[in-house]
Amino acid sequence: MGLTEINLHEQLKKYFGFSQFKGLQEQVIKSIVSNEDTFVIMPTGGGKSLCYQLPALIKDGTAIVVSPLIALMKNQVDALRSISSQEGIAHVLNSSLNKTEINQVKLDITNGVTKLLYVAPESLTKDEYVDFLKEQTISFLAIDEAHCISEWGHDFRPEYRNLKKIIKRIGDDIPIIGLTATATPKVQEDILKNLNMSNANTFKASFNRPNLYYEVRPKTKEVFSDIIRFIKKRTGKSGIIYCLSRKSVEELAQTLQVNGISAVPYHAGLDAKTRAKHQDMFLMEDVDVVVATIAFGMGIDKPDVRFVIHHDIPKSLESYYQETGRAGRDGGEGHCLAFYAYKDIEKLEKFMSGKPVAEQEIGHALLQEVVAYAETSMSRRKFLLHYFGESFETETGDGGNMDDNIRNPKTKTEAKDEVTLLLKTIKDTNELYKSKEIVNTLIGKSNALIKSHKTDAHELFGKGKDKDASFWMALLRQVLVAGYLKKDIESYGVVKLTKRGKDYLNNPQSFMMSEDHVYDSNAEGDIIVATKSKSTGPDEKLMKMLKDLRKSVAKRKELPPFVI
Ligand code: ADP
Ligand code: MG
Repeated sequence: MGLTEINLHEQLKKYFGFSQFKGLQEQVIKSIVSNEDTFVIMPTGGGKSLCYQLPALIKDGTAIVVSPLIALMKNQVDALRSISSQEGIAHVLNSSLNKTEINQVKLDITNGVTKLLYVAPESLTKDEYVDFLKEQTISFLAIDEAHCISEWGHDFRPEYRNLKKIIKRIGDDIPIIGLTATATPKVQEDILKNLNMSNANTFKASFNRPNLYYEVRPKTKEVFSDIIRFIKKRTGKSGIIYCLSRKSVEELAQTLQVNGISAVPYHAGLDAKTRAKHQDMFLMEDVDVVVATIAFGMGIDKPDVRFVIHHDIPKSLESYYQETGRAGRDGGEGHCLAFYAYKDIEKLEKFMSGKPVAEQEIGHALLQEVVAYAETSMSRRKFLLHYFGESFETETGDGGNMDDNIRNPKTKTEAKDEVTLLLKTIKDTNELYKSKEIVNTLIGKSNALIKSHKTDAHELFGKGKDKDASFWMALLRQVLVAGYLKKDIESYGVVKLTKRGKDYLNNPQSFMMSEDHVYDSNAEGDIIVATKSKSTGPDEKLMKMLKDLRKSVAKRKELPPFVI
């Protein structure tokens, strides 16, 4: 029987027990079965594994599956072994195998027993394996989590960059399958380019999650209280709260506990046993809330997470989408609430300032998108989907009214004169200042730096004092997002005019400034502030790990190591 005549539904039932393909699976599988290069972009949980597993089981020879995480590979191998009487149907090839085990893997491949061979990209660089594999019948090569190849993705792994070269050594005409849940056009372009597969059949599923409600609120000193109030209205429901630092995780978890919310912390500074315990407590519903760093969530598949709160805004919209994606997996309610303060963005920028310029540029560009998302007055869903290269109409699209900006539109006011004054102030002070000094100049507040440039004697000094600092800061951000200004990377944070900004000064136009939503923050009872957590101060183990990691990355890129 030729491969084209194979009844894929029968095979699906036989191997996996499913009677229907999910989404684009069938088309993807047909493409792979016909030996075409294939590129699959589907959200997490979309069923990407089956896209290569089923063709691998059907086709002659062994499929090589590259995957970045040993734990993920092991899970898949165990699952495949459970559906077959042949133990050797799937193997993981990695450095932990001894000589006998390696020989067994090789024997199974040579004998045609092994249909799927999972390898980490660094193992695939070994000459011993490459020399062996190029003598075998390889059905295709699947690269899972293919975004690891791109510095624009959220999980760049330099070893992925060598894949194409190695694949070429194994065999020039082996079909390549790339799979990822990262939907940004930039990352997709990188994948196609680096794997040299621009002619691949591309299958992209929609990233719209119609049941998720997106909301951004200003982050103030009251943020813990705001979070508590939010949760208390949802007693008994499951939720995840993300913080950037371990310290905030600990503090927030304690504050929730003393306010009667059942919550546990989760971060990489806790020992493995505690982490596993807290994760299980959450999965088993012994606690309602996990307060976590991004260490939490990889592979978490709790279907009824009802809210995901970001106490700190993440470094990219990609991360934001992935993290909020853990809400409402079952299709039910999923409230995604982010607390946003521009100060947090500046903190993240400062943290990047020691990195190589190229890396900073990427980091800044990604952050700029996060600011734009937080500040936008348009539909958040439309904004997110647009970021992923997908168009969305709020009037007709699924979930079109599921965000704060649509339900409660921001008030907009004409700010043409203010934008002109702002840009003029920046120009006339010779583009020397960061946002703080610009705003101070506008409201007529001096400081050492302003004095040193004699800006306090300038005729524009204090020209904007009928408005307060927060007004000017908000306008500055919106004007940045609109592309009239840019932040200099070389001289960290200094704000300069773009060409558009200069044009605007010559020909000022209407600029509608949007105001933040107003929230009713009526207290619903007293909120107790927890005592400071013990784990203050930098975590030395983590700092060392980070330093080592960065050293090794820098070495690979032949750049000088940077200092934390
Ligand atoms: P991804 O890698 O895209 O995140 P997975 O491959 O891990 O997704 O699959 C997610 C879940 O969907 C798994 O539990 C898998 O068993 C299930 N699944 C995949 N294909 C089907 C199908 N055709 N019918 C039902 N469930 C499926
Ligand atoms: Mg997957």
